[in-house]
Amino acid sequence: MELTHVDVMVEPDRMGDAAFIRDLALTRAGVRDDGAVPVRVVRRSIDARSRMPRFLLRVAVGGGERSASAFRPAALGGKRAVVVGAGPGGYFAALTLLEAGIRPVLLERGRDVRSRLKDVKKIYSEGLVNPHSNYCFGEGGAGTYSDGKLYTRATKRGDTDRILDLFVSFGASADIRVDAHPHLGSNVLPRLVRAMREAILGAGGEIHFGAHVADLILESGRASGVVLAGGEKVEGDAVILATGHSARDIYELLHRRGVLIEAKPFALGVRIEHPQALVDRMFYHHSPRNPALPAASYRLACQTAERGVFSFCMCPGGFVVPASTAPGELVLNGMSLASRSAPFANAGLVAEVRPDDVPGTDPLALLRFQAAVEQAMFRAGDGVTQRAPAQRVPDFLQGRLSGALGKTSYVPGVYAAPVHELLPEFVTRALREGLAILGKKHRGFDSAEATLLAAESRTSSPVRIPRDRETLMHPEVSGLFPCGEGAGYAGGIVSAAMDGVAVAAAVARRMKK
Ligand SMILES: Cc1cc2nc3c(=O)[nH]c(=O)nc-3n(C[C@H](O)[C@H](O)[C@H](O)COP(=O)(O)OP(=O)(O)OC[C@H]3O[C@@H](n4cnc5c(N)ncnc54)[C@H](O)[C@@H]3O)c2cc1C
Repeated sequence: MELTHVDVMVEPDRMGDAAFIRDLALTRAGVRDDGAVPVRVVRRSIDARSRMPRFLLRVAVGGGERSASAFRPAALGGKRAVVVGAGPGGYFAALTLLEAGIRPVLLERGRDVRSRLKDVKKIYSEGLVNPHSNYCFGEGGAGTYSDGKLYTRATKRGDTDRILDLFVSFGASADIRVDAHPHLGSNVLPRLVRAMREAILGAGGEIHFGAHVADLILESGRASGVVLAGGEKVEGDAVILATGHSARDIYELLHRRGVLIEAKPFALGVRIEHPQALVDRMFYHHSPRNPALPAASYRLACQTAERGVFSFCMCPGGFVVPASTAPGELVLNGMSLASRSAPFANAGLVAEVRPDDVPGTDPLALLRFQAAVEQAMFRAGDGVTQRAPAQRVPDFLQGRLSGALGKTSYVPGVYAAPVHELLPEFVTRALREGLAILGKKHRGFDSAEATLLAAESRTSSPVRIPRDRETLMHPEVSGLFPCGEGAGYAGGIVSAAMDGVAVAAAVARRMKK
C-alpha cells in the first residue's frame, strides 16, 4: 500500500505497547489491519503543553523501509588531504574523503579516546589541565565526553539523516533516527569514536595522535601542508582545518602568518543548575515525573534591553564539567550519561557578546576578552584547582554573597563567590534581566534552588576563518579549507559533522578539476 504518515498522541504508560500504537495509527490512517501493513514510528517527541505530557508520534503506514546510508570507501588514488583535528568535523571529513578515493592524513594534538579519559580524570583528581588532552582536545574532539545531544537546527546545511545513519552504523542506537531530540550520552560516544577510527584506518586513512600542528606550509598564497610542533612537515594536496573553537594557538598562528580572520559574536555567562525534580515540575507540570518520561529539558531565550539571553547546551539529569583547555583558566560546560539519571539539570545561561562590546578592531580582541574572563574565574579561586565560583540566583540578583550553597553536580567543588562581580558588567546586567523574564514564565527558574556556576564561555568561536561560499576554501589561501565550529561554520556535533562532509566534498570537487 502507498505510504502515508499520521500523527498520534500516546500516554507515557502505553509507549511500550506496540500493538496499541499500531492499532491507533491504522485507525487514524483509515486502513484495515490485515496483519501485513508495515507500520513504523518515524518521529518521537514529547508534547508537554498540557498538564499530562504525552508522546507525539509520527507513524509511517505502508510503504517500504527507508534505506539507511552507510560508509562506502572507494579505492584510493594518489591524492591526499591533511585534516587537522579529530573532532566530528575532522572525522566526518576523513570518512567523506575516503568515499571520494582521497587519503586523509588526520593530525590530532590530543590522545586517543581511551588515553584521553585518564587526562580528563586528572582534571578532577589533581586539578591538572593537560593543554593537549582534556574535555575539548583529543580523539573525537569536544563532542566525545559531552552530553551527546544530536539535535541541530542547521538542517539546511546538509543531510542530518546521513550523519545519524553513520552514527548508527558505528554502533549508536537506531532510536536516534526517530527521536526529535536524539541523545547519545558520554558513556556511549567513546565507543562510536573508536569505531570511526577503525573504519578510517581500515579504508587506508592515516591518524596520528600527539600531532600538534604548529605552523602551515604557505607559499605564494597556497597551503600545501602543515608543520608539527616537533618540526616535522606533513604535506598534502589540501589542508582541512577542523581544530574547534578552543584552539587559540591556531587563530594566533593564522593572524601571525597574515591569513585573514575575523572577530565573530559569541555568548558568555554561567551554568545554571536546578534539581531535576524542579525542572520536571516546571516543564512537565508535576513531579515526580512519570518514569516512562525522560528527564525534562528546556531551551529558553529572551530579549533584554541590550542583548539576547538564552540557554545553551541543556543537560537534563547531567553534570557540570570542567572544560578548561589550559592551566590557569576555568571554563565550565555540561554533559550527561545515556540514562540522564543524575539528580541535577544544568544549562548554559548566556548573553550575546558582540565585537563592539570590546574596544579595538583586532580580530583577536574578542578571543582575548574571553580568555581574560576565564583566567579571572580561575584566579578568583584557590589558583590551583578547578573549583568554581558559585552563587544562588536570588543572591546574584541582589548582589550579595550566598551564605550557604546547595549541593551541585560539579565534582571539583564550588565556593561562594560574587559571580555578579566576576562576570563583565554588561553580562551580569543582561543575565539579571533575563533571569527575571524567564523566572516569570517558568516558576522556580530564578528561585533559591537554582545555583549559578561560572563561567560558561565556550559557546561558540569568537573568531571566524572566512571561506568562499562556492569552493569552501579560504578566500586568500588556496588549498586551505576552514571547517567546523572553530572556523565559525558549525555549532554542535551534528552541524560540525555536516560541515566536515561538505568541506571534504568541496576538496574532492577541487581535486577532480
Ligand atoms: C563538555 C561539552 C559538552 C558538549 N555537549 C554537546 C552536545 O550535547 N551536543 C552537541 O551538539 N554539541 C555539544 N558540544 C559541542 C560539540 O562538542 C562541538 O560543537 C563539536 O565537537 C565541534 O566539532 P569540531 O570538529 O568542529 O571541533 P572539535 O570537536 O572541537 O575538535 C577539534 C579537534 O582539533 C584538535 N586540535 C586543536 N588544535 C589542534 C592543533 N593545533 N593540532 C592538531 N589538532 C588540534 C583538538 O584536539 C580537537 O580534538 C559539547 C562540548 C563540550 C566541551
